Amino acid sequence: MSGERDTIAAISTAPGAGGIAIVRLSGPRAEAILRAAFRPANAKADLSGRRLTYGAAVDEDGAAIDEAMAVLMRAPYTYTREDVAEIHCHGGSACASAVLRRVLLLGARAAEPGEFTRRAYENGRVDLSRAEAVMQLVGAQGEAARRAALRQMRGGVASFVEGAVQRLTDMLSRIQAAVDFPEEVDEAAVAAQVRAELEELAGQIEQRADPKRARMLREGASVVLCGRPNVGKSSLMNALLSAERAIVTDIPGTTRDVLSERFTLGGKVVRLSDTAGIRASGDAIERMGVERARSEVEAADVALLVLDMSQPLTDEDRALLAKADERYLLCLNKRDLPEALDEAALPDLPAVRLCARTGEGVERLLARLEERLGAGGGEEECFTVERQLRLAREAAATLRGCAQALGDGFSPDVVAPDMLRACELLDNVTGRDASEEVISAIFANFCVGK
Ligand code: GDP
Repeated sequence: MSGERDTIAAISTAPGAGGIAIVRLSGPRAEAILRAAFRPANAKADLSGRRLTYGAAVDEDGAAIDEAMAVLMRAPYTYTREDVAEIHCHGGSACASAVLRRVLLLGARAAEPGEFTRRAYENGRVDLSRAEAVMQLVGAQGEAARRAALRQMRGGVASFVEGAVQRLTDMLSRIQAAVDFPEEVDEAAVAAQVRAELEELAGQIEQRADPKRARMLREGASVVLCGRPNVGKSSLMNALLSAERAIVTDIPGTTRDVLSERFTLGGKVVRLSDTAGIRASGDAIERMGVERARSEVEAADVALLVLDMSQPLTDEDRALLAKADERYLLCLNKRDLPEALDEAALPDLPAVRLCARTGEGVERLLARLEERLGAGGGEEECFTVERQLRLAREAAATLRGCAQALGDGFSPDVVAPDMLRACELLDNVTGRDASEEVISAIFANFCVGK
């Protein structure tokens, strides 16, 4: 199967300091290269036993490059279904780079981004939707995202898609029967039944292909604090973050400015932003700040509108309240002070009374927020990868169109080609028909070594 293939190698661990770094090889020469680049401490050690063996990575003169552990996994029971070898050396880039150079000198080729997973795909170990899930798992932020990616990698979406294609095929065969045997099969009955099934299937696909939910899983939910100046937004931001301090995540690659912080709540990543900081002095800048604050609030999954309970509502408060929709939670702050706010004048939205200064009520607010974020749907397999989401939505729209046409009185064999088209779109999710271009684009987004 892979007799002619070259053997690829890469550092599979993340760059930067760490305890260990792993150089991975895959391909027909993995074993030979490993035996040349690694010397077990015990000369009798059996490298082929899928066990980690202690020893040293060595250069062409037999001199040690690094103390290391190595493992050899023979095809086909490996990630790529080819022979795979790993050399676990000391972390940091120096040792791993030296070991990588050594295996390249021995005839391995530097792997392209995602090439290990691409080989797993080409050798039939994973389908495209699973390969994409691997990529997402590697980048997963938060428990919910990890669970979604893992479910998908184990075939959650793939089996849903296969089931959907199966159902469509079944409907198509009933349509065909109605065409072939018009005397025996009642076409109108088939049309009505297929129409109902198409609606149901489209609904199931749409439910799993909700872009908002996918984005929340991928990037976390965006929660924005808004309110007029001095109501206590910054204080509340600090109180929320310190209540969650133990699990504030330091996610690499994000700018940790004071305006936006991430933490996890009930396994979901929350990106909390304070629009107060957007305001700057100076007219033009102030206006830009207000504009940015508005667009942040518009794009947010949840808006926390902070009001000062110790003061009557101002026109600015009223203007903000007038815009409040179902995404809003009202935070009635400064409850430690004498109350001057007329609560009867507030719109009918969930409200939490709290004191940002002491942190009192903040736990309640977090509980409400968690409830709100959890309400975004169950955890059934859903399409989280942009490419899959697009295909699924197009398939659902096509099926809706078919159902509509049947409802308008078109005969089933007229809509059949569109149903076939939906099948193709769904097949592309798992990559049964994916073109080389699509495949290359997908794997190019992977990191090297995966
Ligand atoms: P922002 O402009 O909305 O971000 O408001 P700040 O967080 O800067 O707070 C404005 C003022 O209100 C500061 O002096 C805070 O100390 C005070 N403040 C905030 N929360 C409370 C609270 O719960 N009780 C009291 N008494 N004062 C508060």
